[in-house]
Amino acid sequence: MTNEELWREILGELELTVSKANFATWFQNTFVADQSEGKITVGTPSAFVKEWLEDKYQKNILKFLRLRSPEVRSIEFKVVSKEAPQEKKVSETKNAEEQMDFREIYIDRETNLNPRYTFDNFIVGTFNELVHASALSVINNLGVLYNPLFIYGGVGLGKTHLMQAIGNKIKTDRPEKKIFYISAERFANELVSAIRNNETGIFKDKYRSYDVMILDDIQFISSRGSSTQEEIFHTFNTLYQANKQIIFSSDRPPKSISNIEDRLRSRFEGGMIADIAEPDYETRLAILQSKAAEKQEYRPSSEVLEHIAASVQSNIRELEGSLNSIIARSKIKKRPLSLPEVKEILIKNEKPRKTLSSQHIIRKIAQFYEVPEKNLFEKTRRKEVVKPRQIAMYLMREDFNGSFPYIGKKFGGRDHTTAIHAYTKILNDLKKDDRLKEELKTIRAQLYEEEKQ
Ligand code: ADP
Ligand code: MG
Repeated sequence: MTNEELWREILGELELTVSKANFATWFQNTFVADQSEGKITVGTPSAFVKEWLEDKYQKNILKFLRLRSPEVRSIEFKVVSKEAPQEKKVSETKNAEEQMDFREIYIDRETNLNPRYTFDNFIVGTFNELVHASALSVINNLGVLYNPLFIYGGVGLGKTHLMQAIGNKIKTDRPEKKIFYISAERFANELVSAIRNNETGIFKDKYRSYDVMILDDIQFISSRGSSTQEEIFHTFNTLYQANKQIIFSSDRPPKSISNIEDRLRSRFEGGMIADIAEPDYETRLAILQSKAAEKQEYRPSSEVLEHIAASVQSNIRELEGSLNSIIARSKIKKRPLSLPEVKEILIKNEKPRKTLSSQHIIRKIAQFYEVPEKNLFEKTRRKEVVKPRQIAMYLMREDFNGSFPYIGKKFGGRDHTTAIHAYTKILNDLKKDDRLKEELKTIRAQLYEEEKQ
């Protein structure tokens, strides 16, 4: 049996014993690198996967191997990158961006869940203990104990991650259950177009068929009219009365969601309400350590991680973001960063991002170049508009760490490649154009001066 054949068979066995999510996460890009004298070497794409396989799957893999070739005595995991190193085109940040996009896109069609969100990679600390425990109770008592489960907390604190982990876990444990994850915004849009097309029957049937319904960012529906809210209420009621499990998330507690009908609010409050607080220093450090362990190159030193944990206090997404920008910068410089360099990045990333909105940046730049703000969103190629638009995109990326897809979307739903192009264009122009440099300096000064006030 060749290495490929052997591994294909082993994977076939393993696939039956682990969840789809875990299978995809841990066994993608693994292969038998070598077999000799009773020892099998399994190649893994990263150190993180290697450790995980050693810890969790070694026994099973060995068992299946022995069934096929009894002479196998031991198994070894080794980090081997299969792909040939690629030419770097635009910049490291672009590659990081693409990777992120890929992970976001990998979504299960049936449930709309992203398998990367699991309990395995969800860190529990005092800040989210309650919500974590509630989530486990829900899984074990579907539809009967806490219904609905209402999770709330500030942005980037893990609401989406946790809800999706619940969905993924139920999917693994009880494959007969029909689960569906959707953002409240999309849910409302779907509903509105169903009403418009006289298809509310189809809409209701679809949602009634789910055993577990996960609705993310429900605060969003406060921006919807009362007839939409009414339909939403009825849909929930139907599900609720049929003992289907409903899980909501929101950035605030039900009582603080304005403009919603009282009966909808009391429906939200009728089950279990659990909040996620902000993680303390120790927890932030633990989160960073675990996220850093997933990285293949330029893992920051503990001194650096401690510094990030101490200075980035707001949320987990920002912790991850800071870690990623430090590693991205390391890759560009091809060496680990010193503490002062790290500090500089953190100051640049953190401070302005908290209080300045993208709208604000765009307005400022429009004013500076004396073009009407709305022109920046239009699809015109006029020079006097193109330049400020590119500068706005550049700043949103450089100073505010916006992702390229996000920036593209902000500017009238443009493609992310447009944002990448704008960013690199300005980056290059800055090298040779002193006037542009001066202009940016002034814009930044104005933006950050205001921010201090
Ligand atoms: P929210 O929905 O509350 O805005 P997310 O669930 O999108 O936040 O989380 C933001 C990022 O932080 C995600 O990449 C997520 O995987 C990560 N994250 C959040 N909470 C945790 C946690 N407890 N353990 C590990 N990663 C987390
Ligand atoms: Mg979310």
